[in-house]
Amino acid sequence: MSEESPTPVKNFVQNIIDGDLKQNKNDGRVHTRFPPEPNGYLHIGHAKSICLNFGLKETYSGKCNLRFDDTNPVSEDPEYIAAIKEDILWLGFEWDNLCHASEYFDQLYDMAVRLIKKGKAYVDSLSEDEVREYRGDHNTPGKNSPYRDRSVEENLALFERMKNGDFKDGEHILRAKIDMTSGNMNLRDPLIYRIRHASHPVTGDKWCIYPLYDFTHGLSDAIEGITHSVCTLEFEDHRPLYDWFLKELEFEQPPQQIEFSKLFLSHVIVSKRNLKKLVDEGHVSGWDDPRMPTLRGLRRRGYTAAAIRELCRQVGVSKAYSVIDYSLLEDCLRADLNEKAQRRMVVLNPLKLTITNYDKNETLQAPNHPKDESMGQRDLPMSNTLWIDHDDFMEEAPKKYFRLKPGGEVRLRNSYVIKCEEVIKDEKGEVIELKCTADLDTLGKNPEGRKVKGIIHWVAADTAVPVRVNLYDRLFNDPNPGGHKEQSFLEFLNPESLNVLETCYAEPAVADAKVGEAFQFERVGYFSVDHDLGAQGNEPSHPLTFNRSVSLRDNWK
Ligand code: ATP
Ligand code: MG
Repeated sequence: MSEESPTPVKNFVQNIIDGDLKQNKNDGRVHTRFPPEPNGYLHIGHAKSICLNFGLKETYSGKCNLRFDDTNPVSEDPEYIAAIKEDILWLGFEWDNLCHASEYFDQLYDMAVRLIKKGKAYVDSLSEDEVREYRGDHNTPGKNSPYRDRSVEENLALFERMKNGDFKDGEHILRAKIDMTSGNMNLRDPLIYRIRHASHPVTGDKWCIYPLYDFTHGLSDAIEGITHSVCTLEFEDHRPLYDWFLKELEFEQPPQQIEFSKLFLSHVIVSKRNLKKLVDEGHVSGWDDPRMPTLRGLRRRGYTAAAIRELCRQVGVSKAYSVIDYSLLEDCLRADLNEKAQRRMVVLNPLKLTITNYDKNETLQAPNHPKDESMGQRDLPMSNTLWIDHDDFMEEAPKKYFRLKPGGEVRLRNSYVIKCEEVIKDEKGEVIELKCTADLDTLGKNPEGRKVKGIIHWVAADTAVPVRVNLYDRLFNDPNPGGHKEQSFLEFLNPESLNVLETCYAEPAVADAKVGEAFQFERVGYFSVDHDLGAQGNEPSHPLTFNRSVSLRDNWK
């Protein structure tokens, strides 16, 4: 990714890999993986893991697999699988191998049998509640199940019958035989297999027993030849178990688990369960609602993949817990769009302005970007009836007000200097029109003998394109909506997170803008074309809808 500056300092994961390469560990291979569970859409937190895992592949000319961790048949959905693939590609990464943990069910079953044969796994027949009770807690050691000493033969026979569907859900489980008194709860004879009479999206009805995460994860890593299995910190306590399975099953080049801290962003929530709740309860329009911190929500909002990658680069990789301010993400987007987005003039809150001494209909020219000539120019039709923004006029203005005021002068951006001669109001006293004169000697040059400080944007009324604008704001008012014990995150929803402006006017150069295309509306902010479609799904429900991606400046700081 050439547009980003290289990471100046290596992160701790790279330091570990450098050390491994020095010793020629894994024959000098670097192979990572990104292992989402297909039970929801990817969010900004996942982006950090994706950038890290695929970034290591790029740095070390290694490989990175995309592995769907699809061991839980009930929560998975092919819709999520398709969306996850699409979002990773959009973010700018390509996997070397596309894998599903479910592909390994045969191998995993054989490995479980090997553990049983070594006397390292047994079939337990305690109820779920009893299992919990026997496990103890952090202060109390666990105690052995009365079934722990079943013979290898009995275990093999029972496990096979579990596989064959002879038992009901929950009747038996397969457990690793480690240590019921271990200080690490994960080592108190963890579950390896459970019975689930459920159809799986990939394997269908072939299996009625399914392996558990801890067993599946490390062994899938080993099967795929992963060298560095990078995951988030909550798995640190699981590492002894990860290593135990690899050791007992005697892998020659076992993968190494390395933990880093999750990305937490202020003013959002990034737990799939809670994001799903927002969707299911209708607080947002869907997973791709432009206020959602999902990758598709961000994309629809106008976030670029480059901005998200840049955030991840700036945040870095460490083991320290930290919450990143949402404004950092916004800054990354501004920096990217400032360079890439063409400029347009769009009036959000229209006020009519007539120029009494202008009767030409010129087509003026305006640069598409103030600093990048290669982006070319656009036609900008001028006329004697314009729309300007209500906010750019003030009747009783302070001295330092440089926009339009009665008797004041202002430059119309890319056009003439005008002077406000008359303010017209309706019967309620609301300003409905400004009558102005233009200094026709000011096109492309300064007025004679005086300085005009203000510049405002405008759109010629007869050629204006009506557009709808969605002004998005943060979804939550609270910096940590998910962090309140007594209150649900739903209580912190920002009631003003969406403000729809139905009648805005844009200059004609926006007319053929494409879905997703980003613009800077001069003096206003960055906007991108929404993919809003009509009820039939093929007709735009409005000529053009723009989403505000981010304002020009940070209004929150
Ligand atoms: P959630 O809690 O949102 O459901 P998850 O961790 O269950 O997320 P997975 O599908 O299991 O989601 O995650 C795939 C990978 O993404 C895992 O390796 C996980 O550690 C990583 N990941 C998830 N959330 C974050 C985050 N906030 N920051 C960095 N990595 C994350
Ligand atoms: Mg998960």
